[in-house]
Amino acid sequence: MSHATNLRCRECSHDYDLAPIYTCEWCFGPLEVVYDYEAIAASISAEKIAQGPESIWRYSDLLPSDVDAAVDLGAGWTPLVRADRLAAELGLGEVWIKNDTLNPTNSFKDRVVAVALSKALEFGFKTAACASTGNLANSVAAHAAHAGLKSYVFVPANLEAGKIVTTAVYGGNVVAVNGNYDDVNRLCAELAGTYPWAFVNVNVRPFYAEGSKTLAYEVAEQLGWQTPDHVVVPMASGSLLTKVDKGFRELHKVGLLADEPNVRVSGAQALGCSPIARAWLDGADTIKPVKPDTIAKSLAIGNPADGYFALDVVRNSGGGMAAVTDDEVVEAIQLLARTEGIFAETAGGVTIATLKRLAEQGVVRRDERVVAYITGHGLKTLDAVVPVAGPTGTIAPNIEAFHAAFDIEEQ
Ligand SMILES: *Cc1c(COP(=O)(O)O)cnc(C)c1O
Ligand SMILES: [Zn+2]
Repeated sequence: MSHATNLRCRECSHDYDLAPIYTCEWCFGPLEVVYDYEAIAASISAEKIAQGPESIWRYSDLLPSDVDAAVDLGAGWTPLVRADRLAAELGLGEVWIKNDTLNPTNSFKDRVVAVALSKALEFGFKTAACASTGNLANSVAAHAAHAGLKSYVFVPANLEAGKIVTTAVYGGNVVAVNGNYDDVNRLCAELAGTYPWAFVNVNVRPFYAEGSKTLAYEVAEQLGWQTPDHVVVPMASGSLLTKVDKGFRELHKVGLLADEPNVRVSGAQALGCSPIARAWLDGADTIKPVKPDTIAKSLAIGNPADGYFALDVVRNSGGGMAAVTDDEVVEAIQLLARTEGIFAETAGGVTIATLKRLAEQGVVRRDERVVAYITGHGLKTLDAVVPVAGPTGTIAPNIEAFHAAFDIEEQ
């Protein structure tokens, strides 16, 4: 049995039953899942978790759906890799990479979609849908196929070709919309009022968002039930960042962390779509929507739904933010690949480039244990590195040609 008790408005605290709804009738604020933490504390333990499945479902006590009804393609329980070579290049001490490229459809979105579609099945939906910048479409199509649901995914028509292919292959409907993500999202909000579909990031968004908390749970468990001092999180809508913060706090609430966590949370955006980082850098309280223009398409949300909450978390935790250029993103993808053997998509480049900036500024410190969340695989955005990652040399098929081209005396 799930320990979720109801939904609550994040603005005015009005309570609602657990249902496929997402905004408050009183103030239009976003709804969030509420749990019975006493019941969770009584049920959960490190031993029980350790005996659970090697997926996000090991934390089902802290999720809104019942593990027996879970849509499970194996999302989660991805490696936490110590990154000493990267740390040395950045002048940092202890750096870890949470390698979420290794999810079933190669992005962190599998965590949120697994929870959203489990809940969708429970609510009796027959069709899953979403507005997506690409990764969510991949994941919804795959999980819907696995769960026997129909799917309609809506994406901007200018998306990377690879992301369309890797969605369409699962056999659902892929609707390419001539517009940017914010146009697609607006269309989906309208469709959600018309069709009885589970739009994972519209009418079941409160449940969907909870899946992101598992990125905090796993890091704490993998560090031996300790928290990092500082995390760097990529931001699109800002939801993931706020849920990572919530996740660490919940672990303390239910008794899995002895001390109140004190994790500094920093946010990463690409300069070409940085409404949240802009507000941070300007010290502003309002987030001005922007028109995205960046290679980091998976983060290209110009009007971020959770932007204010993300700003709040970063301010209250003593973190920082940066907006990095597309050139820095490409360099950072190469840096991570060259130092740690992990190939990230552009969103990962945004995160590592932000980590580098914040290290240079002294916001991320050498004495901190740092975790960088790498949320998508490099094969998703090959175009970004095609210009900088070709053959070292092209030669005739004989040894003389090799000798002529390569000076191997250095060994
Ligand atoms: C969706 C996504 C994020 C974060 O999204 P939020 O809307 O901020 O929760 C981060 N990285 C990748 C690769 C994504 O696809
Ligand atoms: Zn409200």
